[in-house]
Amino acid sequence: MQKDPFVLRHLAELTPELWWLDEDPLEPAYQPALIGDVGADLCVVGAGYTGLWTALLAKERDPERHVVVIEQYETGAGASGRNGGFCSSSLTHGFRNGMRRFSSEMPIIERLGRENLDEIEKTIERYAIECDWERTGELQVAIAPWQFASMPEEARLRNEMGDHVEVLDRDQVRARIHSPLYEGALFDADGTAMVDPARLVWGLERACLALGVTIYENSKVDWLEDVDDAVRVHAPYGAVTAARVALATNVFPSLVRKARKYVVPVFDYEIVTEPLSDEQLASIGWSGREGVADAGNQFHYYRLTQDRCILWGGYDAIYNFRGKVQRNYEFNAETYATLASHFLKTFPQLAGIKFTHAWGGAIDTCTRFSPFWGSAHRGKVAYVLGFTGFGVASTRFGAATMLDLLDGLDTERTRLRMVQKKPLPFPPEPLRWIFIRFTQWSIKRADEREGKRNVWLRLLDAIGLGFDS
Ligand SMILES: Cc1cc2nc3c(=O)[nH]c(=O)nc-3n(C[C@H](O)[C@H](O)[C@H](O)COP(=O)(O)OP(=O)(O)OC[C@H]3O[C@@H](n4cnc5c(N)ncnc54)[C@H](O)[C@@H]3O)c2cc1C
Repeated sequence: MQKDPFVLRHLAELTPELWWLDEDPLEPAYQPALIGDVGADLCVVGAGYTGLWTALLAKERDPERHVVVIEQYETGAGASGRNGGFCSSSLTHGFRNGMRRFSSEMPIIERLGRENLDEIEKTIERYAIECDWERTGELQVAIAPWQFASMPEEARLRNEMGDHVEVLDRDQVRARIHSPLYEGALFDADGTAMVDPARLVWGLERACLALGVTIYENSKVDWLEDVDDAVRVHAPYGAVTAARVALATNVFPSLVRKARKYVVPVFDYEIVTEPLSDEQLASIGWSGREGVADAGNQFHYYRLTQDRCILWGGYDAIYNFRGKVQRNYEFNAETYATLASHFLKTFPQLAGIKFTHAWGGAIDTCTRFSPFWGSAHRGKVAYVLGFTGFGVASTRFGAATMLDLLDGLDTERTRLRMVQKKPLPFPPEPLRWIFIRFTQWSIKRADEREGKRNVWLRLLDAIGLGFDS
């Protein structure tokens, strides 16, 4: 536990609350719960990005389709309302992870990822979604020389595949953002946008409603029943009988039991500062307002918000024994202190700043760290899961592909090996806990030993389970 009184003083005004949901006039009115039985062409379970994109795209493809969304809490109650708002073109949790797993398909996947991000931008314009969209690009900063070593090669490969990536040396990156830790960076000029995550999810909700989608909140789906050529989706006070069902339930227990072994909830945390004064802002530069992530295996991500606060998250990724999604796991004093301490090392000139908000959320981690798809009930039900902390943009791609599968379409998306193949499942408990904790310990050690991977990590790399930031 962090005991340094200097660091802890910065947490004196911290409230364990979700900053994005703080008194926002753009938050839509509640939708009613599902009471009684209704019919639909498509029933979507879950009202985060995946569910709302599925509903929106379904209506755009066929305005006559009757689409119903059922959410157990309220729209955006899951990861979609509480993330860092990095909206990235990567569909594979970063380029290097994609290359490890789908190298021959990466030119297509990268292009589809860029098209996906462009389509998100167009949708935001089309429906006038107020979500503070800023296409700032992203800096991946090296905070140790070994992290910089592979950047020129990554830039070369990515640019060959159509990305626009630039290598910045120590002076160039420090000229943009003034941190004594930076050793260089990769700057992806247009592959990432910053967004207010809650406003994006609410905007998608409004767009869905405007197109005639029916949304039910506070209606937890308990089970699915196969009925002839449809599926009945059962909630406590009613049911939807639908020809097709799209499951967009992310890290929560899947309604398709056989999908559960592929995903574990790993908790990720964020803290936010008070708004920076002109002087404080001048002391760090950052006029490009880029999203920033460091290139460690255990990495931080951080960004400026519209009102000049800094959101700082990542690093600790906590898996709890038996992997439950529980509210009490969303608050973690020890991690908040770790985050504050790393923040102050990165920006020592901001010493004295106050952190005001802190929270956490569960990430749907799978062993390949990027989404996978599946179907059940003889193709009437489909799901997409496993975004592993990289889903603000890729959920739209996940949703489009899930609709292709439900509609029985043969598309460029459905032909991808990435879409057709599932990740390796996690072992059952207690092996699961030991596997994840030992891997995390090894990753931490690799960061401390200039990226050198121990035997365990090399073994995982060899069987396709390796993780490289
Ligand atoms: C702290 C944190 C930071 C992150 N930062 C980033 C980032 O900066 N960039 C990025 O790309 N990604 C980030 N992510 C990941 C990203 O937020 C997710 O990948 C994305 O939001 C997933 O969207 P979703 O719709 O699939 O899931 P969710 O938003 O979790 O939605 C699933 C919904 O399904 C509902 N549901 C589940 N089960 C049922 C049921 N049985 N009946 C009815 N409803 C049900 C849930 O209540 C929930 O609302 C972050 C995640 C976290 C937790």
